[in-house]
Amino acid sequence: MRSVTLPVGEVVPALGQGTWRMGERVERRSDEIAALRAGVDLGMTLVDTAEMYGDGAAETLIGEALGDRRDELFLVSKAYPQNASRARLAGACEASLRRLGTDRLDLYLLHWRGSVPLGETVEAMEALRSEGKIRRWGVSNLDTDDMDELVAVGGQDCATDQILYNLVRRGPELDLLPWLADHAMAVMAYSPVEQGRLASDPTLGRIAGEIGATPAQVALAWTMRHEGVIAIPKAGSVAHVRENRVAADIVLSDADLAMLDAAFPRPRGQRPLEML
Ligand code: NDP
Repeated sequence: MRSVTLPVGEVVPALGQGTWRMGERVERRSDEIAALRAGVDLGMTLVDTAEMYGDGAAETLIGEALGDRRDELFLVSKAYPQNASRARLAGACEASLRRLGTDRLDLYLLHWRGSVPLGETVEAMEALRSEGKIRRWGVSNLDTDDMDELVAVGGQDCATDQILYNLVRRGPELDLLPWLADHAMAVMAYSPVEQGRLASDPTLGRIAGEIGATPAQVALAWTMRHEGVIAIPKAGSVAHVRENRVAADIVLSDADLAMLDAAFPRPRGQRPLEML
């Protein structure tokens, strides 16, 4: 499995597993558990979740699916912005830990920016880190100007920015990706298959056929083509997990990348970071 090195040297897989909308439908539960376990078997040990997902249901599902494999995982969860304060972050973290059935998170993220000052969130995150409740912290959905502010208020130890980045969301290439590379912070690309839509995109289907891969695999391999980018597709079946895992071994050639650039051009001018 290809890997990405986080600041301070920790190595994590470049391909992880997302969990948004998991744990919400009883009839899907056994497939979702099997998918998560298969992903871990295949080296996709970075698992991304949030207190928001299913109002805690995704975290509970992960606890049930992977509780016995905790030490193999790099577990990521996220706090609502309204919980990212001095007064509330510890409680939100404790609730996530309880649902996940663990005593620590490997990475804890601010889900998006709200009204709590960034400096206060940094302080609350650092307090959790000193207590051993989280091993490191980061942010999500923060654009370049927010990242400048984060660093200015003492957030230089931020490990990652988790952002919407895929073939049809290339805006971050103009400013945010270079900013994160300059600051040695990892990128976590969410919705790398554009919530499934790229898997049935006809243009990508044609290019994938020429490359001898599936559209989802090409979308994922493209997202992970740069060092420092972690993709976290959500797959609710073992078949999708297996298909996605192959993407981590695909190296797109210059000719493939040129074809993809022509079909999915990067925007001409800077644009605000999009979020889902
Ligand atoms: P993805 O781009 O990962 O797409 C998920 C969808 O694609 C599902 O419907 C899944 O179907 C389908 N899919 C997955 N693999 C394949 C495949 N090989 N072939 C065909 N279809 C496939 O979207 P998400 O929005 O779920 O993003 C991934 C993760 O990123 C989330 O689960 C979450 O953890 C995180 N995220 C973070 C956000 C943030 O604000 N920080 C916002 C959004 C997401 P099926 O389930 O049937 O396999």
